Amino acid sequence: MTHRSDQRPSRRDLLRTLGAAPLAASALQAAPTARAQTSSSQARIVIAGSGLGGIAVASRLRQLVPGAKITIVDAKQEHNYQPGYTLVATGIWPIEKVKNRNAEFQPEGVEWVQEMVASFDPASNSLTTTGGRKIGYDFLVVATGLQLGYDQIEGMDVKAIGSNGLGSVYASPEAALATWQAMDAFRAKGGQAVMTLPAGPLKCAGAPLKMTFMVADRLRQAGTLDKSKVDFFSGLPDDTVFGVKPVNDNVLARWKALGIQTHYLRKLVAIDPGARKAFFTSPEGERQEVGYDFLHVVPPMRAPDAVKGSDLAAKDGPMAAGGWLEVSKDTLQHKRYPNVFGVGDINGTPRGKTAATVKKSAPLVAHNLVRVIDGQPPDQIFDGYTSCPMIVREGSAMLIEFDYDGKLTPSLPMIEPLQESFMAWFMKYRLLKPAYIAVLKGRV
Ligand SMILES: Cc1cc2nc3c(=O)[nH]c(=O)nc-3n(C[C@H](O)[C@H](O)[C@H](O)COP(=O)(O)OP(=O)(O)OC[C@H]3O[C@@H](n4cnc5c(N)ncnc54)[C@H](O)[C@@H]3O)c2cc1C
Repeated sequence: MTHRSDQRPSRRDLLRTLGAAPLAASALQAAPTARAQTSSSQARIVIAGSGLGGIAVASRLRQLVPGAKITIVDAKQEHNYQPGYTLVATGIWPIEKVKNRNAEFQPEGVEWVQEMVASFDPASNSLTTTGGRKIGYDFLVVATGLQLGYDQIEGMDVKAIGSNGLGSVYASPEAALATWQAMDAFRAKGGQAVMTLPAGPLKCAGAPLKMTFMVADRLRQAGTLDKSKVDFFSGLPDDTVFGVKPVNDNVLARWKALGIQTHYLRKLVAIDPGARKAFFTSPEGERQEVGYDFLHVVPPMRAPDAVKGSDLAAKDGPMAAGGWLEVSKDTLQHKRYPNVFGVGDINGTPRGKTAATVKKSAPLVAHNLVRVIDGQPPDQIFDGYTSCPMIVREGSAMLIEFDYDGKLTPSLPMIEPLQESFMAWFMKYRLLKPAYIAVLKGRV
């Protein structure tokens, strides 16, 4: 196994990039669009979930409402830098870079209840933890992220990732590393790679595409691309692998040049890891069996059960099946419970399941919530900012940024969206984790 970069940046690349790095970092840390409101309230604020969104909002509320009693509820002890999983799963980063202790990031003066929320009862402004503790609140922020639906793929066992050519970047840091081990073994000989994408909302919908670019690149580096085949099975309609048209078309053109074949309206329903077979169905119910040497599984995603089973979940419309939080896409306030806000992946918004979305929306959620605490309506509007550095090969990426309407919203003057660059790669590789930690600490 190797972590060595086969394609090292040239000295000129590095100098050019380092010159631009401060600008990139400052753009990443741009101040929220308007000044945040403060309050002298002593309200009880409960935050469900201590991932990126929960801690980012807690850090801001600590500053904006110093008299409030803020409680975070989440049993998770480890804090994972999930945007780094694709780097671990493709042999670029060591696993340690995506693992921190959650205690490191808990803001001072915030109570941390180390249990999960078992159920929400918004009608009585309370929730119950898995330990049976009932916690009342005046205001609630739901930041539980999402649940990976590996259970919806027959024969899939997360513990089997890494063996028999089975990969899946999403499950955990350990699964990401095991995915790299499977990919590394596969590239030595080459063969059939089967890459998958379910329909429906996903966190970092670019990750399945990055994994596909990188499997081709790793084969190329190993000299086995010519005797290999990479097939991408999309659950989306014809010619769709990504929901933003110019990005989609750009990716498909690149894949065509690389010889990656695409298949559409194919849903991964079962795998037989021992026999290395994947089974897909079409909307007409046709079942297709596909053999593989390397398989990348991307599970369907839904809201965690505690949210999905509560009155906070969307009741109808496209977000109801996944049980996503029923928030206004503009203010991120719950549509039926005005003392509830959502941040991050749990939100039933048309786009925006990325860490970059949290960076842009956490200050807005904190501000709008403070307005509501003080009896005023929310006044900041979220544009749906979503971003994804699309790795196209080792040492090169495209920085894709867009809004709810799928309009490209480039934020850095020296980076053209849809044009691959070493700079975009360098941001992903080196600059975005410090920016993520600044978001957690409420510094941006
Ligand atoms: C493979 C991969 C690649 C990615 N790449 C990128 C990228 O390149 N760029 C980017 O911007 N984003 C990327 N992301 C997405 C980014 O990591 C997420 O969008 C971000 O972490 C969302 O933050 P969150 O707080 O909503 O959820 P999380 O950070 O996942 O945190 C959710 C927290 O809620 C807790 N929780 C769950 N259920 C309950 C419950 N019942 N009670 C209490 N707590 C609960 C969990 O334990 C967890 O701590 C990637 C993600 C993955 C997995």
